[in-house]
Amino acid sequence: MGYQEIVQFVREREQVRPRAVNLVLLRSKQLLMLYTLKLILALFPLVSRESIIKLITWYAVLFSGKPPRQLSALAEFLATSGFGDIAFRMSRLVSRKSLDRFAISFLMDGLIVREKKRLQEYLNGGAVPYSLLISPTARCNLRCLGCYAAKYSPKEELPFDLVDRVVREAQDLGVALITILGGEPFLWHGSDA
Ligand code: SF4
Repeated sequence: MGYQEIVQFVREREQVRPRAVNLVLLRSKQLLMLYTLKLILALFPLVSRESIIKLITWYAVLFSGKPPRQLSALAEFLATSGFGDIAFRMSRLVSRKSLDRFAISFLMDGLIVREKKRLQEYLNGGAVPYSLLISPTARCNLRCLGCYAAKYSPKEELPFDLVDRVVREAQDLGVALITILGGEPFLWHGSDA
């Protein structure tokens, strides 16, 4: 099943209901998504890496509105891309509050809520990435072996206004994950702003 067919599938389901009903359903669904997510997060520290991947996949199957067979690709992605490992390690090493924050941004907002914006852009002929990486500066107080940062001039920095605009536009388009890289981002002049 291609991306275009998934969009069609989601749209057809939405079109058969009146708008007001859709709004009530949307709000109820968001609350259900939030509390279900908190419930599965409470299980993360108690279960294996494989079970964490299954929980994330089931969660996406329940709430994304995509046909279930499409989600096997997500399970494979989580298993092979390293996200499953990250989720497993975070469940053991990171505080519950930070884990909640990450999961709500990554799973709920990124995988499901913003997916609709990305689908919309796709229909309009665009291609919005899931993730955006920005290196606003190459300055760094360290010289780690193999790092590229020292090859760039410390003067080659991105202005704050430009980074601010790119981040806002990315959010509007449905980009789910924005990573600020270096050099050392806290040495960037724009970090004061
Ligand atoms: S940017 Fe990161 S990897 Fe590179 S030298 Fe600085 S601390 Fe090391």
